[in-house]
Amino acid sequence: MDARLEAIRNTVLARNPGEDEFHQAVTEVFESLGPVHDRHPEFLEGAVLERLCEPERQIIFRVPWTDDAGRVQINRGFRVEFNSALGPYKGGLRFHPSVYLGIVKFLGFEQIFKNALTGMPIGGGKGGADFDPRGRSDAEIMRFCQSFMTELYRHIGEYTDVPAGDIGVGGREIGYLFGQYKRITNRYESGVLTGKGISWGGSLVRPEATGYGTVIFTEEMLKTRGQSFDGQRVVVSGSGNVAINAIAKAQSLGAVVVACSDSSGYIVDEAGLNVALLRQIKEVERGRLKDYAVRRSAVAYVEGGSVWDVDATVALPCATQNELGGEAAARLVRNGLIAVGEGANMPSTRHAIAVFQDAGLLFGPGKAANAGGVATSALEMQQNATRDSWSFEYTEQRLTEIMVGIHRRCETTADEYGAPGNYVLGANVAGFVKVADAMLAQGLI
Ligand code: GLU
Repeated sequence: MDARLEAIRNTVLARNPGEDEFHQAVTEVFESLGPVHDRHPEFLEGAVLERLCEPERQIIFRVPWTDDAGRVQINRGFRVEFNSALGPYKGGLRFHPSVYLGIVKFLGFEQIFKNALTGMPIGGGKGGADFDPRGRSDAEIMRFCQSFMTELYRHIGEYTDVPAGDIGVGGREIGYLFGQYKRITNRYESGVLTGKGISWGGSLVRPEATGYGTVIFTEEMLKTRGQSFDGQRVVVSGSGNVAINAIAKAQSLGAVVVACSDSSGYIVDEAGLNVALLRQIKEVERGRLKDYAVRRSAVAYVEGGSVWDVDATVALPCATQNELGGEAAARLVRNGLIAVGEGANMPSTRHAIAVFQDAGLLFGPGKAANAGGVATSALEMQQNATRDSWSFEYTEQRLTEIMVGIHRRCETTADEYGAPGNYVLGANVAGFVKVADAMLAQGLI
């Protein structure tokens, strides 16, 4: 890492002790930015990096609620409003027991660059709670969401901060959150949340967008080497919204997706995963992957194992941060892997990324490859602002154009900085320069 940047990075780490994931995200971005500071001394003079690493505002709050047995439960809620240089803070809410400030800050930090790459007018933010939705009834989820919004509402707004979903927050939760916001404010402010239901201000394609976008981005990478998804053997981790839609899109392009996972284990279906059955089990029944193996023949279910033990030519990590380590990466590379497209945020460890890059394979980092979700959220905001709703075809076409544009931006930036094919550098530099220019233009704030 460039010595000037390393000094700044070390200060950031010391100021934010114990936030490992945030440290990792910052380090990974800083490693790309040395050459940018040679060309743009004004970024150092304006202390852009120091400002960028300090969120504009961080909110931590108590979320009290009662469970179905009448017991009082207390969770911790977060919203980190990281950077508003390009637009209102934008980013999802994650409900998962692992959530703490370090996770929210890593996600918020990544979101700044991701959102810049989309070319849409959105800043970066993220939030969530250490609430575990697993096994909770609809009524408990509703009470939790209502309590969460009872504090959050005063901090958000169409022109201020626009939350959406992430792990543990989907259409059901966005519905309860929107209802409570409307009730407290007495305003039908559609653009305050994205990922809404289609009949009440949501956008078609938003549910599919992250997974579809990841596959579109990965297809663009493959094209640069005269390849495509057609005939590839694909492994996807996770089985949530991002994973299922990535599986569906990859199969529509001719790939055979043989495996996916949940937190208990993974399934291998050599005939190609049945997306309708996956949707039935995961989205309708909110069940577990184990049930898939029970209902379909010739399927292996491996309890407790890692899905990265399954060979693939294309890997799409769509579960969570740091799920794919260096050893798994090395094994995949030895067994014929040619491309990785990250559907999740920071799923590959720094060691895994180094293995992929040293092997010279195509590696699409999450902040570029999974930007289709937030980009379509911005399209939802656009529809809300004009009180319009677009067709599936038109919205999907816009998503495709955006993903192709992000790929091109990463590619040309990597070329420009003498690192052809390095999508990590391309994404970090292209996202950073756009935000840094806007920050300097807007003065010291
Ligand atoms: N949570 C998603 C992400 O990581 C989507 C955020 C949004 O739509 O605002 O980008």
